[in-house]
Amino acid sequence: MAPAQRVKQNTEQRKIQFGNFAAMTGLDEDAMTEAAAAQFAVPASELSASHKRGRLLADQLLRSFNKRPGQSDIYQFVAWRSLFMPTEIIYAMGIMPFTIEMFAAHLGMSGLAGGRLETAEGSGFSPDLCSFIKTGAGAMIEDILPSPDIILTTSHLCDPAAKFAAHTAHRYNRPEFVLDIPYGIWSLGSSISDIRKLNEAVGYVACQLEDMAEFITRETGIKLDMPKLTEIIGRTNEARRWLMMGNDLARYANPVISKGSKELNYAANLMQTWGTEEIVDVYRTRYEEFQAGGRSGRTASSRPRIIWFHLRPYYHNTLLGYIEDHADIVHSQVNHVFWDEMDLNDPFRSIARRVLMSPAYCPVRQRTEMIIDNMHKGEGIIAFYPKSCRHFHSSARIEAEMMKQAGIPMLTIDGDCIDNRGDDFLVLKTRIDRFFKSLRLQARDDAEPLSAQGR
Ligand code: SF4
Repeated sequence: MAPAQRVKQNTEQRKIQFGNFAAMTGLDEDAMTEAAAAQFAVPASELSASHKRGRLLADQLLRSFNKRPGQSDIYQFVAWRSLFMPTEIIYAMGIMPFTIEMFAAHLGMSGLAGGRLETAEGSGFSPDLCSFIKTGAGAMIEDILPSPDIILTTSHLCDPAAKFAAHTAHRYNRPEFVLDIPYGIWSLGSSISDIRKLNEAVGYVACQLEDMAEFITRETGIKLDMPKLTEIIGRTNEARRWLMMGNDLARYANPVISKGSKELNYAANLMQTWGTEEIVDVYRTRYEEFQAGGRSGRTASSRPRIIWFHLRPYYHNTLLGYIEDHADIVHSQVNHVFWDEMDLNDPFRSIARRVLMSPAYCPVRQRTEMIIDNMHKGEGIIAFYPKSCRHFHSSARIEAEMMKQAGIPMLTIDGDCIDNRGDDFLVLKTRIDRFFKSLRLQARDDAEPLSAQGR
């Protein structure tokens, strides 16, 4: 299909899709547009980091439907992307990324995921399919997603997402580009052979990224602006620095200066916002808020400190509140920065390195060893793994055994981030209480001299 014909089709489809989306929320289109405009009337300088982030995502979603608060409709090229598809090239071409899993999380938070899950299950999607993808499938069937110009997928993280992307390419009749990512690069060592493998992998992915830019040009008519790409990579680097500085304050401050459950909402390393000006501001503001919190003069606390694995339950739940009544969530897998600063003079290879360096895409034993090496006294792990997650839940047993051997308290919760139909806090409560008790006992043992412990 010629790009102009696709634009014409999308323009018509997105009008219907926006109406469907608004109807699902219980609003008509005008009410939805007015609500958005009211939200955008507040100057950014008056917002907290978390509000700035929420507004950025809302703005991006509206633009994907060709809507802009307070303005008439403007066509927006949209690329559906899988979670770890880098965004810098997409933004440098003036295209808006759209991430199904983020949309599913948004529906989960708004109490709107259940209907989409039932739609997908009623249409033949397996009940045990990952609920991020299943919610997206239900939304696709109900035609509430902004139809894409192109679909960009990586072969890693994760398999259900890659399969669903292929399904959507067929369903919307849109071209798909798949970036093939070699496995296990993050865990390579420093031997000559490992360095050679790393360089080959970087070159392999960098060439594909150049091919991807050509593919986008062919399918949309938009050319890659190299100076713009450099500028955008610079923004990613700057946002990364603020995020890391904020992470350090959050993890090491005592008493804590952040609410861990709110921090999980950033899910920074999965986000489609890398490369935007706004996300630099979001992470800078977050850091400044933490700095101000650190000056409060409160006394240090001995509460257990939790490192959170995977994402949070997005639906309304009792679990997170209960955990935070007894412990502090000080860091998370999803806010961890795993890649180095990117080289502005070598954009494709830099982006390739960043995509390749995902600890989650290497052997479980090696990534677990890295985690063990980075745990501190007084910290334990809560892994909230969706039962349907083929990638993380399937690793839980090996992780738990390794953590036990290393003496690191770990609690694995078989949950779901989006689907609340199996949520049963009372069943979990006993296990959580036992876990906190083990953390407190460990803290006491660490504090007592060996003689007092009879050793
Ligand atoms: S929960 Fe697991 S299966 Fe689902 S999108 Fe995330 S990594 Fe993939």
